[in-house]
Amino acid sequence: MNTRVLLLIVALGGTACAGGSHASEGRSAASSSTSAPPVSPASASTGGGGAAREPSTTGSSATAVTTSGPVASTTTGKPVATSESVTDHRVAASGAFIVGSKGAGVASQPGGAVTGRLRAGVALAVDAIEGAWAHILTPCENHLWVRTGDGQIEQTADIVIDAGHGGPESGAVGQGGLTEAELNLAVARMTVEALAADGVTAALARTGDYRQTLASRVAVATAMHPKAFVSIHHNAEPDGQRAGPGTETYYQVGKDVPPARSAQSKRLAGLIYEEVTKTLSQYSADWVADTDAGAKYRTGDSGNDYYGVLRLSAANGVVGSLAELAFLSNPSEEALLKRDDVRKAEAGAVARGIVRYLRSEDPGSGFTVPYPRTEPAGGGGGTTGCVDPS
Ligand SMILES: [Zn+2]
Repeated sequence: MNTRVLLLIVALGGTACAGGSHASEGRSAASSSTSAPPVSPASASTGGGGAAREPSTTGSSATAVTTSGPVASTTTGKPVATSESVTDHRVAASGAFIVGSKGAGVASQPGGAVTGRLRAGVALAVDAIEGAWAHILTPCENHLWVRTGDGQIEQTADIVIDAGHGGPESGAVGQGGLTEAELNLAVARMTVEALAADGVTAALARTGDYRQTLASRVAVATAMHPKAFVSIHHNAEPDGQRAGPGTETYYQVGKDVPPARSAQSKRLAGLIYEEVTKTLSQYSADWVADTDAGAKYRTGDSGNDYYGVLRLSAANGVVGSLAELAFLSNPSEEALLKRDDVRKAEAGAVARGIVRYLRSEDPGSGFTVPYPRTEPAGGGGGTTGCVDPS
């Protein structure tokens, strides 16, 4: 077996900006400095005969990562660690490394001195294995190595769920003190559970209360080759009152998205919108909304998607949607969102939308043409000041 491979780094490059609030998530990422083209899941695994990395259809999680070669390679990416002599034994790999219960030491090269630690439970995108070490991208986009024994690699998932914001990037904050980061994570976890109960394997991109760049979230998703990626958010800054929930779901648009994939993303957004509004309508609240609430899109200045997680996932061939489920800034809705049963209902609705996307041809509903938006992006979602969870 030819074990010499040229390694491609999944170079997602510059990061998108997430707003401190929902409204500005990822706008400035249009200017992100992508130093190398993102590697699509397909391009990393095609050819080479035997570089089997087909997503499992059995739905089992925690499968061992495939490291058998030879792995086809191209030279479109940036070679890694050119000064090291160890690349002969490095093989391309793909999956999410989940840090084990004792945490994981990190090193700048396989077998090297441990220079730091990562917190138990954190999900890391893996793009290569060398011996007993895995090359990972941290939540703050540091390229490091961890011992494979310090966790487990989940090679695939049908769905990857992203809980927006995290750590000091709280996102929207309700008047009662509930933070969007905390709420999103709770609902994301429940969504994963609801999907699992329906036989759909799902994984979280952000697994705890820590900062994570948008590119890192998408890297975790991309590495797991999901059928869809859904980012969960809660909204702020509504236009006014509405008779029912002001749910908004976004689908992928722009120059990075082939029309066929944009259509899939649109269907996903429409189905999540349909299920979430139907579910939330059963609760009584003084609902607020933007006047263009619905399943919609937002194009950025340079003709690609405004939202970093949608733009980056689209560029990596992953169908995605970003959902603003309800308005956390509205005290009436915040009161609902503090309730576990309401969170569970929301999560169940998101999961039903996803399951219908996977198992039906239903078109979804609630499609609306957004009015032009010009509000500036907030900060966040990038690497500046980002500290990996230790
Ligand atoms: Zn948000």
